[in-house]
Amino acid sequence: MNQRSILIIYTGGTIGMLADPRTGALRPMDLAHLEEQVPELDRMNVRLGSRSFETPIDSSDMRPADWVRIAQIIGEDYESYDGFVVLHGSDTMAYTASALSYLLEGLNKPVILTGSQLPIGTIRTDAKENLITAIEVAAACDEHGRATVPEVAVYFEYSLYRGNRTVKVHAERFEAFRSPNYPRLAEAGVHLKYDRSAILPFREGPLKVHEHMNDQVGVIRLFPGIRAEWIRHALSTPGLRAVVLTTFGSGNGPTDPAFVAVLREARERGITLVNATQCFGGQVEQGRYTTSQAFVELGVLSAKDMTVEAAVTKLMFLLGQGLGTNELVEGFGTSICGEVTA
Ligand code: ASP
Repeated sequence: MNQRSILIIYTGGTIGMLADPRTGALRPMDLAHLEEQVPELDRMNVRLGSRSFETPIDSSDMRPADWVRIAQIIGEDYESYDGFVVLHGSDTMAYTASALSYLLEGLNKPVILTGSQLPIGTIRTDAKENLITAIEVAAACDEHGRATVPEVAVYFEYSLYRGNRTVKVHAERFEAFRSPNYPRLAEAGVHLKYDRSAILPFREGPLKVHEHMNDQVGVIRLFPGIRAEWIRHALSTPGLRAVVLTTFGSGNGPTDPAFVAVLREARERGITLVNATQCFGGQVEQGRYTTSQAFVELGVLSAKDMTVEAAVTKLMFLLGQGLGTNELVEGFGTSICGEVTA
């Protein structure tokens, strides 16, 4: 079989900070720089190419237009490479991974996001293992050359996760990610062990890169005592199209009539409301308790077992496609690429 070819796309984040992490300075990273820091790359039986954001950014500065830019880069080089490794800050990696999974329709090559908690040039860095194994995953294929992981995934500290199921769970540990409601796609130990039953099946067909995300979306995290006026104010933002309410437990919220009235007003103005749980794992079951009955009556959409990251980016994506209200309701409830359990 021909040597596999992988494109590394550097967007920024800690992984690319140079030897002096005190300055926090980021500079575009190319293959030469990577090879200097990780000489092992030369010994991998893979042809590597690289592209970099002109101005690499901390992932806290990522915007929907940047997600689209990454998707476009993948689209531009799709035919020239067998797989893609996106180097990205870990802070908002789960959002980018979710957005890419929607933007890259018909993807049948690996897009593996990774980064690190320590810069690549530091002695105890986690970047080397993350990078090397991400490349291995992106290059893995069967005897017909079909990718083993034909989807958007996050690789971090010996675990491979479905991208749109991930959450960043730790600010310091190398083991910074989890996918609470979905099994790991692979575990890296002595061997790279794939859970093939969890990985999306390979499908033939062209890639379609979507290029529109609508950012008229908000998130409101409920807490005991949250004031109805505050929510009314947030829901009155001009142009707002959809809001994710992060709720308690299995999707519950206050029964306070003032709270319910504010949500009703928003629904009457055509704002789409989504119910996502604040819990780390498990799912929304509207109507299970009386404290979620109002959501059912108001036509609030259930995010079921989606992460907040997957729900917010899905709304941006669906609104970006210019969907009408009914199509939005249907689209939100349907799995696009494994972000929600059917
Ligand atoms: N603040 C950094 C970022 O997300 C942290 C990291 O790279 O892990 O860009």
